[in-house]
Amino acid sequence: MRVSKSVSSLKPSGIRKFFELIIGREDVISLGVGEPDFPVPWRIREEMIYSLERGITSYTSNYGLYELREKIAEYYKKFGVQCSAESVIVTTGVSEAIDIALRAIINPGEGVLIPEPCYVSYSPLTTLAGGVAVSYPTNPEFIPFYEDMLKISKRVEGEGVKIKAVLINYPNNPTGVSYSKKTLEEIADFAVEKDAIVISDEIYAELSYSFKHESIASIEGMFDRCIVLNGFSKAYAMTGLRVGYAIAPEDLLNAMLKIHQYCMLCAPVIAQIGAIEALRSEEELEEMRNEYIRRRNYFVKKLRNVLEVKKPDGAFYAFPSIEGTGLSSEEFAKRLLFEKKVAVVPGNAFGDCGEGYIRCAYAVNMEKLKEAAERIVEFVEFL
Ligand code: PLP
Repeated sequence: MRVSKSVSSLKPSGIRKFFELIIGREDVISLGVGEPDFPVPWRIREEMIYSLERGITSYTSNYGLYELREKIAEYYKKFGVQCSAESVIVTTGVSEAIDIALRAIINPGEGVLIPEPCYVSYSPLTTLAGGVAVSYPTNPEFIPFYEDMLKISKRVEGEGVKIKAVLINYPNNPTGVSYSKKTLEEIADFAVEKDAIVISDEIYAELSYSFKHESIASIEGMFDRCIVLNGFSKAYAMTGLRVGYAIAPEDLLNAMLKIHQYCMLCAPVIAQIGAIEALRSEEELEEMRNEYIRRRNYFVKKLRNVLEVKKPDGAFYAFPSIEGTGLSSEEFAKRLLFEKKVAVVPGNAFGDCGEGYIRCAYAVNMEKLKEAAERIVEFVEFL
């Protein structure tokens, strides 16, 4: 066989598979892709254009531009983390940061506890790093609990798998749920109890609506066992520019750098320059955040006429339960697409426990969102 066993055994992304169906169909309203509909704020674009005009197109340091690392360290104080530029590595999106964080710490056969439903790359990247993805279904609350984590880790220890890391994401894709201080403390207690590392994907931190985002690395004693991941794709609508970062203690950061320097060299320089400007764009960010809140409030209220749906604390996803309809997630999503021309993602794309739910991204303008919500309501009413 030409393709490696580990790659050929990976399942294709449930999101991509579904979206093959709608490519080129302009009559469909897509609540499918987790991508902001706003353009990159003008001041960020202008800064990138200007640097391109000046011919700034070279590699940067493997760690990333020092000015950006400094600004990120300063910025993360708002989420409770005190660190210096030396604790920051700039990556090609959070996607790369997840990959190199896992590869930097996982020995073959070690376990990564993953609260699910979760972002689609966590389990495949754990497998590719040689680890064992240990699934922790968190529904219906979508919140991890200390006792449950302990129970699962004991069970897998019995099967010879030691939990080396916990991979969390809050505010969460796909559920929109964020974690309170109490939940973060339970995760921290578990990590200490098991001497595990916490990989904390905080890419939606700026899109927190219900309460202020706090990083788990801000809990006393936790900085040294955390790899915090964040980036510019979501809050600053910079998805295609590919810039993210990790904040980590020295040994873990240097381990990640070793991989990054061989497989990536550095994040695109123009995007790094844009990211520096992004960290000065509080006003633009506030405008986008307020618009997401407006959409969330409208969408949840409308959907609650026919489906059970938690009010999302953050990100730009609603995750309604469709259990009452008697359809599976895939049947629901397919029929909604063909009968009402609205695309959503079946919940099981985010782990088996996502069955019975659909993910709707409210990253489309209000006009489209209203039309999509009305069609969903009609669809459910006439089932
Ligand atoms: N982490 C989460 C939770 C996401 O939802 C996404 C994108 O949807 C990513 C990481 C990837 O982000 P990036 O564009 O920075 O690679």
